[in-house]
Amino acid sequence: MEHVRDNVYAELISPGCNVGIIATKKGTLIADTPLVSRQAGEINEALVAVGHEPVRFISITHHHPDHVLGTTLFGEDVLIIGNRASYENMGEHDPGSLEAWINTWTWENPDDVTEMLAARVLPPEVVFEEELTLYLGGVEIWFFPLPGHLAEHTGIFVPEAGVLITGDALFKDHHPYMGQGNFQVWFKSFAKMRDLKAERFIPGHGPVCGYEAIEKQQRYMEKMMEIRANWNPAEGEPTIPSSAIDELLDFYPLHGRPVAMMRARVIESIRIAGDPQF
Ligand SMILES: [Zn+2]
Repeated sequence: MEHVRDNVYAELISPGCNVGIIATKKGTLIADTPLVSRQAGEINEALVAVGHEPVRFISITHHHPDHVLGTTLFGEDVLIIGNRASYENMGEHDPGSLEAWINTWTWENPDDVTEMLAARVLPPEVVFEEELTLYLGGVEIWFFPLPGHLAEHTGIFVPEAGVLITGDALFKDHHPYMGQGNFQVWFKSFAKMRDLKAERFIPGHGPVCGYEAIEKQQRYMEKMMEIRANWNPAEGEPTIPSSAIDELLDFYPLHGRPVAMMRARVIESIRIAGDPQF
């Protein structure tokens, strides 16, 4: 568990997603979940070791399986919080899509895969429409729309600590997944993120970071829009120069994923740049 600022911590899980951790006297709230019970145990142990309460609240930024798979890992007394769209979309999980996601990574521990494949995802119990403010044990936590990666996406801001938990609105050192996205809406969320004047960002994937991560991801996406403007997918793919795809691949590490798979993902993202998914 990494100390970010004040009462805010992060557990950087890869493969998996980052877990934002906000400690309060009423118990700790996490933003998005770890994948397996071993990781949940480590988070609670680390919290108790530095004198904080264990996890009592789970909030979710969006319903993608790598962010919500662990809703049952902290026991039955934990309260789950999310917006209405995530609540509705959480019914979408099927073992096939989970398996497909698991297969894009290399896992060190086969037991983890077995546990993940058997996971049961619980929907939020506290459901808000667009925004929600908690004053949990005196700590202000603001949930607000941060769409782009998905329409439903929520950001979670802790003003006193100056920390924004971005979920997949921001990726650091990872190629963003854009297959269900909308680039123009995403750029507006970047503007919103800049306006918050946060001190630190906990991205959905990769290390805790500052504004440079937003600028880099914006450049990456603008480059995709530029390529898309000169490419008509109806005429086939060869009109994207291979060098342009290589340049995009060089933006972020591949983390051991096959190059062919990541090239396909970049091409898919270029397609989405001109074909908003919501
Ligand atoms: Zn996602």
